[in-house]
Amino acid sequence: MYYENEFKFAIYAVTKACTLCAGVQHSLVAEDTLSKSDKSPVTIADFGSQAVINIILGKEFPNDDYVCEEDSNQIRKEESAELMKKVYSNVTNIFPDVSEKEMLDAIDLGSDNCNFKKRYWTLDPIDGTKGFLRGDQYAIALALVVKGEVVLGVLGCPNMYYDKKDKGAIYYAVKNSGAHALSIKTGETKKITVDAICFPDKAVFCESVESAHTAHGQSAAIAKLLNVNSEPYRIDSQCKYAAVAAGMASVYLRLPTRPGYQEKIWDHAAGMIIVQEAGGKVTDVNGKSLDFSRSYQLTENSGVVATNGLLHDTFIEAIEKV
Ligand code: AMP
Ligand code: MG
Repeated sequence: MYYENEFKFAIYAVTKACTLCAGVQHSLVAEDTLSKSDKSPVTIADFGSQAVINIILGKEFPNDDYVCEEDSNQIRKEESAELMKKVYSNVTNIFPDVSEKEMLDAIDLGSDNCNFKKRYWTLDPIDGTKGFLRGDQYAIALALVVKGEVVLGVLGCPNMYYDKKDKGAIYYAVKNSGAHALSIKTGETKKITVDAICFPDKAVFCESVESAHTAHGQSAAIAKLLNVNSEPYRIDSQCKYAAVAAGMASVYLRLPTRPGYQEKIWDHAAGMIIVQEAGGKVTDVNGKSLDFSRSYQLTENSGVVATNGLLHDTFIEAIEKV
């Protein structure tokens, strides 16, 4: 397998981050803080997840570039002392010997001058923060990009089901090695593939829960045009890519809600390779490949369409019409 060492540490890192995030979300549910507008639980898990992953990767791959969603500025502030304490406590639950300085340095492992044409990791420590706070789906998304090509992707999805009874799955793919799901609980793995649905009326399409992140009205119009019968499967985070890769949905539509919004690389890199290696196809709404060689944003693209491959052209054509 290509990138065997990188794969091993990526899985280890995401597994640890899953433990941290699931613990924070669990206490959030237990404390019944979900209804409050307090965003601190997601902040704690966000920073904690990024710290844990970067502690592991930074040691093993010190010469790589890192492009991560968070930096430590917010928790370094004096008024965030309480928050900082909670982040540190969660991180030391995983790595008891890590100092506060090491933790903060790990969070800031990313640099401002990443060479996007070479080799870099990209991380969303909690993708789908709205879902996390609702007690729903979220993902820890990590990918390795080499010369503009995503070569490895790992999605930690603590609330997705590996199978009927087994909650907590990690989806992963390495270039040319297929896509797999791993049970967080048992360590069992299985190969996953996209479904074989070729008529849109039989297709299930998934999209963001948040109407600010995708144009629900337009996807409804597309569904009508193509006689899609089922209701949209709305689910937060890159779990949508996992759903397509594992055949739970045939299509993932992310339709721009406003002109000029540029998708972030960490919201798509891991998910994209998992769908591709599962046999599917991923482009932007114009049918163009996603370009990870420019910046932390997909500056050359607009929106995203991920499908089982068979339905790709049908949906791109329908988007054009709508
Ligand atoms: P989702 O869970 O699919 O709703 O996507 C969550 C991601 O949406 C976050 O990680 C944000 O980076 C991203 N996001 C924020 N604003 C927008 C927007 N206007 N359009 C598309 N994505 C957005
Ligand atoms: Mg995100």
